[in-house]
Amino acid sequence: MDLKITCIPGDGIGPEIVGEARKILDVVARKYGHVIRYTDILMGGASIDAYGVPLTEEAVAAAKSADAVLMGSIGGDASTSPWYKLSPDLRPEAGLLAIRKALNLFANLRPAVLYDELVGACPLKEEISAAGFDMMIMRELTGGLYFGKRQTTESDGVKTAVDTLVYNENEIRRIAVKGFEIARKRRGKVTSVDKANVLDSSRLWRQVVEEVARDYPEVTLEHMLVDNCAMQLVKDPAQFDVILTENMFGDILSDEASMVTGSIGMLASASLNDTKFGLYEPSHGSAPDIAGKDIANPIATVLSAAMMLRYSFDLDVEADAVEKAVKQVLKDGYRTSDIMSEGCTLVGCRQMGDLLAERI
Ligand code: NAD
Repeated sequence: MDLKITCIPGDGIGPEIVGEARKILDVVARKYGHVIRYTDILMGGASIDAYGVPLTEEAVAAAKSADAVLMGSIGGDASTSPWYKLSPDLRPEAGLLAIRKALNLFANLRPAVLYDELVGACPLKEEISAAGFDMMIMRELTGGLYFGKRQTTESDGVKTAVDTLVYNENEIRRIAVKGFEIARKRRGKVTSVDKANVLDSSRLWRQVVEEVARDYPEVTLEHMLVDNCAMQLVKDPAQFDVILTENMFGDILSDEASMVTGSIGMLASASLNDTKFGLYEPSHGSAPDIAGKDIANPIATVLSAAMMLRYSFDLDVEADAVEKAVKQVLKDGYRTSDIMSEGCTLVGCRQMGDLLAERI
């Protein structure tokens, strides 16, 4: 298969972790007979330094012409970097918002997996963490409260602020379809999370999700109120397969789920549009505090590349091979400093990439 991938190394540790993910993709391509063509583009601080803006139109065009985008992370230390003296629309993060919009990425996927070998990092009680968990949080990314009309008014010296939570049925349907498609590739269960006991937008959400579910009889659907879901994530996370939810609930629940794994350097993510196209990046930031030291954990980016193989290219066997290599390297006792524990062997970013490559 011919894979056209645009890479955004970005800032901080971005170039180091994307370099290791590419190393793994190249090994996969050699082993399974694929050809990968990469194009690199600049975004965030690197683009500001080169062009004065966090994202150029040429970079957007290069991203659009690819089958998928692999990104490191963008941004710097807000208290010391000159990028944060610029106006907000010219800062690194503006590039990220602009590319998500330009590529119409409406579905955000964040897996939260507790690996047996990293169970000690999980902040939950042992009897809960012992059961392990492997869930995918699917968050709607372009609608809801963050994109509705907002305003602050003042009357008789009293200020009033209004934010609007808007969803139309088409926006709900397209993410629900993605959710069921992804559940079909996993353990076949969708938990749709809403606040249907209070919000009209949630009642519409529930109705449309139920309509979509009829086309996926092999997938089990359950509904859960968001407050209950927040509790269940710490009480019994093993019950979840795919959590499907709107923008703000997903923002909060996906951060909660990542914290429960306890390992920021292990968490992948993907943002998809209504084709097979996706932007794949680790959930963590550009970690400027450890940039250039060859100590960053590349696994979140490697796992993001595995998601790319699975969701943009339907290469499930290849994606499984990458995920298996990650499990094996942990089993063999190798750790970067962020996940280091007693009795394990400490390795740097490049060496972790080499060890993963050997296990493909
Ligand atoms: P961060 O995720 O970059 O770092 C938080 C802590 O985790 C730091 O101590 C860092 O060293 C550590 N860490 C993160 N990733 C690691 C890895 N792979 N291996 C080992 N340790 C790792 O969050 P932050 O410090 O709040 O943000 C730094 C910059 O990243 C900011 O400019 C922020 O805006 C940006 N950011 C970008 C994205 C993105 O590009 N999508 C996401 C989040 C933050």
